[in-house]
Amino acid sequence: MLEKVLIANRGEIALRIMRACRELGIKTVAVHSEADRDLKHVRLSDESVCIGPAASIDSYLNVPAVISAAEVTDTIGIHPGYGFLSENADFAERVKESGFVFIGPSPENIRVMGDKVAAIKTMKAAGVPCVPGSDGPLGDDTDTNLRVAKEIGYPIIIKASGGGGGRGMRVVHNEAALISSIALTKAEAGAAFNNDVVYMEKFLGNPRHIEVQVLSDEHGNAIHLGERDCSMQRRHQKVIEEAPAPGISDELRNKIGMQCANACLEFNYRGAGTFEFLYEDGEFYFIEMNTRIQVEHPVTEMVTGVDIVRQQLLIASGEPLEYKQSDIKIHGHAIECRLNAEHPDTFMPSPGMINNYHPPGGPGVRVDTHIYKGYSVPPYYDSMIGKLITHGNTRDIAMARMRGALSEVVIDGINTNIPLHQRLCSDAGFVAGGVNIHYLEKLLGIS
Ligand code: ADP
Repeated sequence: MLEKVLIANRGEIALRIMRACRELGIKTVAVHSEADRDLKHVRLSDESVCIGPAASIDSYLNVPAVISAAEVTDTIGIHPGYGFLSENADFAERVKESGFVFIGPSPENIRVMGDKVAAIKTMKAAGVPCVPGSDGPLGDDTDTNLRVAKEIGYPIIIKASGGGGGRGMRVVHNEAALISSIALTKAEAGAAFNNDVVYMEKFLGNPRHIEVQVLSDEHGNAIHLGERDCSMQRRHQKVIEEAPAPGISDELRNKIGMQCANACLEFNYRGAGTFEFLYEDGEFYFIEMNTRIQVEHPVTEMVTGVDIVRQQLLIASGEPLEYKQSDIKIHGHAIECRLNAEHPDTFMPSPGMINNYHPPGGPGVRVDTHIYKGYSVPPYYDSMIGKLITHGNTRDIAMARMRGALSEVVIDGINTNIPLHQRLCSDAGFVAGGVNIHYLEKLLGIS
């Protein structure tokens, strides 16, 4: 077992990782910026090291600073959490080369999945269903590009292979706009991602976002933990997630889940991972794989009883998974609301001092947050300050518990998006289940 783990992250996920380490008897090292001395996990971990000024680029993204902190503390493993360095293949490589264990997949796996064209090629070869599209990068030949688009059928979407965070994409509705759109996307991609490779896919009109959680160890065990529905999004940012996805049959869950688990064996994946799909008319279409723990992992933990971070630590220690596929059963339903320090209508970030805080409680309520009364939310980082997760035997009960929890929680001194969540959890469309990825923006009148 890894004896000491450095947590290369901040906020709620750093605390989440620290708790999993503590349960396994693993000592923890918190690294933090100058602005984050008061983070809860910094106080609770066995050791802490300040790695730089407030700006992420000088601290949480500062590879030499993180590696030095690991060296001076005799760390064994490094957990990257999500965001920051978590999907940076060069960082994973550096960690390995410096003699530490990266708690995540191999640098090769991260690199392949970070390149969309390479990822899709790998997935196709491993039998994962993908969006109909060009077979690889688009070349310069106009006739070929026109023919490929015609075969796929309009509308199509041009996507940058190196894109991310919803950037580097352009929808094309007809032949007249195709060639200029390819040129434009290519130019933008070259400037933004230093990689002008673009490809073409069928544009799905009203898909849902459904993703499959997998775990894979180095002993040939790969399992799936079912799916999550994360269709409630604004600007490609997830706002509410749930598990299981409404209306997905056990048969369909098992089919897509096994395809993902088998793919992990196929490309030698090690660790926790998420296969993201668009889902439309009963079909799954792969869009990308996240090679890290995800923000929304708790909904899967609530319905399966599996501690995903614990499994990450075991896998990285070279231990086998604690579960076989046949051990995994979905119990009831779980919903997660991401709590952001932002104005509920304008979405303007709202950093500042939390003057009062009362967490909600009761059966089936989980709160993953680092905030406390007197904590000051710094202006330098993502505005997410925690996650409210509820579980129940049915979706209706989970939803009712979420409404209850949202009405109980008190966070004073800053604006939060709690009023938005209250509205959504009483919205007839969302309560009915199965909304698509455009639902929230339509509801907000911004699309
Ligand atoms: P990123 O890495 O930038 O997040 P993704 O490939 O995951 O890029 O796509 C981001 C979002 O763009 C998806 O969640 C979806 O809303 C939209 N999108 C991507 N591909 C398609 C497609 N083929 N059809 C319709 N929408 C798409």
